[in-house]
Amino acid sequence: MVAAEPTEEKVNNLINPPSYSNYDELDADEDRVVNLDHGDPTMYEKYWEKEGDKTTVVISGWQSMSYFSDVKNLCWFLEPTLGKEVIRLHNVVGNAITEGRHIVVGTGSTQLFQAALYALSFGQSAQPISVVSATPYYSFYRQVIEYLKSGLYKWVGDTANFSEDGPYIELITSPNNPDGFMRQPVVNGSGGMLIHDFAYYWPQYTPITSPGDHDIMLFTVSKTTGHAGMRIGWALVKDDEVAKRMTKFIELSSIGVSKDSQLRAAKILQAVSNSCDNTGDFQNRENFFENSHHLIEDRWKQLRAAVKQSRMFSTPEFPPAFCTYTNRTFKTQPAFAWLKCESEAEDCESFLRKHKVLTRGGKHFGMSPQYVRISMLDRESNFNLFIKRLSTMHS
Ligand code: PMP
Repeated sequence: MVAAEPTEEKVNNLINPPSYSNYDELDADEDRVVNLDHGDPTMYEKYWEKEGDKTTVVISGWQSMSYFSDVKNLCWFLEPTLGKEVIRLHNVVGNAITEGRHIVVGTGSTQLFQAALYALSFGQSAQPISVVSATPYYSFYRQVIEYLKSGLYKWVGDTANFSEDGPYIELITSPNNPDGFMRQPVVNGSGGMLIHDFAYYWPQYTPITSPGDHDIMLFTVSKTTGHAGMRIGWALVKDDEVAKRMTKFIELSSIGVSKDSQLRAAKILQAVSNSCDNTGDFQNRENFFENSHHLIEDRWKQLRAAVKQSRMFSTPEFPPAFCTYTNRTFKTQPAFAWLKCESEAEDCESFLRKHKVLTRGGKHFGMSPQYVRISMLDRESNFNLFIKRLSTMHS
């Protein structure tokens, strides 16, 4: 049987899904399962819906057709307008040095992470080289590396038991997913090649203390602006050869990166930078980072109050630091809560599942099942229901 063609109305519904407020109505059932396992940043829908048509992009059928974006650039599939907006935003926020760096665009920073592993391990050794990351590490690193079974590199995991013997790659996620702490390299061996994953080094999550100045720095719109579905990330890369190999990896895996997504990402980043600009036409814009910072700050207050009330859990405490972007001193307020079950319940993930809250257990991050990671960036109705349940939980 031939599947029916989707009607024009159905296609339009896919292109224009219900607004975030409709989702809230759909989710009115108090008994529903709250899924906070993934870090889906749907909290940001509200801001972008309020911004209205400022970020609407119209792409005609004849546009964005070629594979190529700028053949003179080392990363030939990078749309120049996205490159320009990436540099502008880093200059506005002051979280990374862009001078003397190549920008390599990727289908999310997930593709860039793999491109960086390929570029750094290529031609290094006859044996796969070790990839390490201090626990608790971002669970996806391990999954991606083990799934690919590459002959170039292998997952070793925790830095604690790692004894350096030749070249190795260390992944530094700062602020860290899942626990939110700022991180530095741990192994510090002479054969170390570093990848800094700066997905969360933005002022809504953590004080910007100095501009990142490392060999490979990874960023993603998923966590910067909340546009995870756009699948756009970028790497700032110092070394020409490494940037070339990363570009080659992306050529071999997907012949570049969606131009449509890049153009949309450029428009979004431009809107963020404009919102931070207090001059001229942009004076009355609602600063994206300030708005998001206050939302997340409020959520952390609610979470800490609920944790205190339940007396079953604990959350990490972060030191205050001065943020050069906001000119204020504050504490990190991560995109995830790293919750520890302090009661007899040994498996915190199973315990919370009984209360219809889905989380990701500590073992995925190389830690004990007493811990769980909980997304703080979900839609308001889900977050509120989670807090309500948490504050009344007892073992
Ligand atoms: N790095 C870290 C630390 C992350 O938390 C995530 C998203 N969960 C990613 C990378 C992947 O981002 P992207 O959506 O750009 O692939």
